[in-house]
Amino acid sequence: MATAKKVTCPICSSAMPGDWSEYPDYPFCTKRCRLIDLGRWLGEDYRVPEKQSDDRSSPARPDEE
Ligand SMILES: [Zn+2]
Repeated sequence: MATAKKVTCPICSSAMPGDWSEYPDYPFCTKRCRLIDLGRWLGEDYRVPEKQSDDRSSPARPDEE
């Protein structure tokens, strides 16, 4: 009894019927999805720290008397 595992692409969540060996880019359905995943990883690496909004320029200065 072959248990058909329901495999879905982790990127686009599309179903991937058939054997995983049919997908050269497994576990992604297509090369495109694999590149998207790769891009996400690289995105983590190359993530540029957001320039912090000026929270060191001036202490909270209440403008009231
Ligand atoms: Zn996909």
